[in-house]
Amino acid sequence: MRYIKAVVMILICVYFCSDIIYSGTVYVYGSDGEFFESNPNMKIGLIYGSGAVTSFQTSSETGFLLGYVGRNSSDKFNVLFYTDSRKILVSHAGNNILRVVNPDTGDIILEYEDGENNFAAAAAAESNKNLSAGDAIYELSSENAGFITTPANNLNTGAFIYRPAGSGIEVINLISLEDYIKGVLPYEISPSWPEESQKAFSVAVRSYSLRSAGRHADAGFMLCNSTHCQFYAGARRATAASDSAVDSTKDLAAVYNNQIIESVYHSSSGGVTENHNDAWGGQMRLPYLSSVKVPLEKYDTPGRNNSLWTNRVSPSALFAYLTGESGQASRFRGRLDSDIASIVITERSPSSNYIKGVRVTDINGNSVGIQNSDTVRSAFSKYANSANMDIYKDSKFRSFMISGSNNIINRDIESGVTHILTANGLTVSTPGDGKLHILTGNGRYSVSAYSSGSDFIFDGRGWGHGVGLSQWGMYDMALAGLKYQDILKAFYTGISIEKITEIRK
Ligand SMILES: [Zn+2]
Repeated sequence: MRYIKAVVMILICVYFCSDIIYSGTVYVYGSDGEFFESNPNMKIGLIYGSGAVTSFQTSSETGFLLGYVGRNSSDKFNVLFYTDSRKILVSHAGNNILRVVNPDTGDIILEYEDGENNFAAAAAAESNKNLSAGDAIYELSSENAGFITTPANNLNTGAFIYRPAGSGIEVINLISLEDYIKGVLPYEISPSWPEESQKAFSVAVRSYSLRSAGRHADAGFMLCNSTHCQFYAGARRATAASDSAVDSTKDLAAVYNNQIIESVYHSSSGGVTENHNDAWGGQMRLPYLSSVKVPLEKYDTPGRNNSLWTNRVSPSALFAYLTGESGQASRFRGRLDSDIASIVITERSPSSNYIKGVRVTDINGNSVGIQNSDTVRSAFSKYANSANMDIYKDSKFRSFMISGSNNIINRDIESGVTHILTANGLTVSTPGDGKLHILTGNGRYSVSAYSSGSDFIFDGRGWGHGVGLSQWGMYDMALAGLKYQDILKAFYTGISIEKITEIRK
């Protein structure tokens, strides 16, 4: 069996092979006291878990280096041999043996037994075709050409690590941090955006990547390639401008209290960002993720993608959504059993005024409370792009006139929130109960809304959880002439920008 040959070669290398390119062990995160390395390698999950595939094909104009990568500690790529096959197809042949074939001829190139090390492949370059078994490469990116995935047609640098999973395989990209950022940047924001916005975003992506590198540790990689972490699809969309923004901020990260920050970001704030604890609960523990006004963000620009939005839904469709595909469906299912009668806003975030609490009640009187602004957004995400919004029903209180001591109102008032008329005028109060409360010299009384059209209306601004950096806010600040450091400091309160090689882990 060919895999036995590979295993024997690995054993030989333990004793006789030296690293010719690799210099020193590098960990992205490790024990206290170590400093971050310049441009460490990252392991990014491409195909994993329930997405495991039976086989995976890639092509490279220059052939492949086949080798292996340490399962845990080592981030270097260890060469077994070079194949001039321009296509390789990897599948799980059973018993933890990965089979590499030339898909055009069906010839088996290698069988590799997964164990202490994982099988890996990298697109070869002229400069490293002649490496022999046991040679190791740390900086794959600068040495190797890209390889192209089939059928997605993504172009990736670095190496692909293949692991048996059930009867199929998982694929992880081993890639240098800087190349990874180059692969995230043009998918998260347009590479045609102003230079300072791209530089600011490069620093945010680098900081987030290092700070969150333990996010998928249980699955054996650092970050996934979806928006759960950061969207990443290889080098296909990178431009000279986006690559240059990454290069010009190489090794720079945002730092607070000597720690790289959790530089979360979102698409559009709608004019104000959100405290992390109002979005996600708990106490304020990361002061740099505090709510800030974003006066330069032109979220009301006509035609700008999804910055101002209004969505409408009927009570029956809303019931079906909340107990069906809502991101919080498990909270509604089994508790609501009929059309939605009311959504009462019970709390607003103190700094941002995002909706932080709602109570949803059906026509049979069952009700469910939802707390934290990002959970509210998730509960209604089909209709609400952000919790920076108002929710009301398409019915109003009757037009009426009240004479108070200092004021007179004569207007329709939306239902779904509580209103209190005071000497200072009409104000919205929490917790709401869908009634108009009127305080007069004779005491307090309430008026219920009348029902006409009964659709719920979600009317808001911005897109995303609202915490940290607003991408569109960053765009507008760069257009207004701000430098990338000032853009980052405007969103992340109290930070400094520092070299990662001077920051302890
Ligand atoms: Zn993830």
